[in-house]
Amino acid sequence: MARELYTARLARKDCISESAQCFHFEFVLDGMERFQFAAGQFISAVAQDQNGKLQTRAYSLASAANGNRFDLCVNRVEEGFFSNHLADLPDMPVGATIQIHGPHGHFVLHEPVTDSILVATGTGVAPMRGYAQWLFPAEGQDRSQGRDIWLVYGTRYETDLYYRAEFEALAARKPNFHYLPTLSRGSEDWTGLRGYVQDHVARIVEERAARLGLPLPVPAVDPATPPAELRFGIHAYICGLNNMVSGVRERLTAFGWNRKQIVFERYD
Ligand SMILES: Cc1cc2nc3c(=O)[nH]c(=O)nc-3n(C[C@H](O)[C@H](O)[C@H](O)COP(=O)(O)OP(=O)(O)OC[C@H]3O[C@@H](n4cnc5c(N)ncnc54)[C@H](O)[C@@H]3O)c2cc1C
Repeated sequence: MARELYTARLARKDCISESAQCFHFEFVLDGMERFQFAAGQFISAVAQDQNGKLQTRAYSLASAANGNRFDLCVNRVEEGFFSNHLADLPDMPVGATIQIHGPHGHFVLHEPVTDSILVATGTGVAPMRGYAQWLFPAEGQDRSQGRDIWLVYGTRYETDLYYRAEFEALAARKPNFHYLPTLSRGSEDWTGLRGYVQDHVARIVEERAARLGLPLPVPAVDPATPPAELRFGIHAYICGLNNMVSGVRERLTAFGWNRKQIVFERYD
């Protein structure tokens, strides 16, 4: 069945990291009143390459639903067609359009909201920005229900921490939002966390279990439990390249976490 295509007009484009060649995009769907989606979903963008072939790529929505607008966060991939098409100024100046279909995907927050560890590297932070906007809207009711929400965000350098000012401002405004950027190649001046996201995720799990007096590894769930009856006090949402996603999943599985508690999106 043919998917319905929408025309999205680029309203704003900012290079948010020169070194990583990462761009923040804001699009408007002029013909549409509301573009309804759940935070964390993705759209498929469609464009013709230099040989006239239609190319389609998935991009996570980097915002929560907001009228007929949506944001993307995309970095250039060497030799890649679509990321360069979006990033190159002659191809995509403000006012240019792309075709999209969607929303798609199941990388969405479980409700009711539980304590949640959001884990991202690179542009994997895009859906996390959507979650943060949905959980803690600038105006309107906080949807986090007081749960602890950790964002463990790994990059190599400080200059690659996309949306840093926004997340820092949110952490200052909301005591239950914990922003934990970690650098694998931070300069000597960096006073924050270092190393890989897996290790910091493990520390959060261990400290939380100790604080709440919970056993680790957690006791296995009875396999006979119907899926609808499974209840967890904490979830992890992981987004980025496969290596990192697998590494975090392995660590959480070793703590006895159930696979239904571990929600993930892989970009490669
Ligand atoms: C569900 C989903 C959501 C995604 N969301 C985002 C997003 O929010 N932001 C974003 O920047 N990307 C995202 N991606 C990745 C995106 O779809 C493209 O794969 C990426 O932009 C590269 O496309 P390209 O046409 O430029 O490169 P291609 O022409 O497809 O590939 C060129 C080369 O780069 C390699 N490659 C492909 N993708 C990557 C990658 N992500 N990192 C490193 N090397 C790669 C390929 O193996 C190939 O060798 C998402 C992918 C999925 C599946």
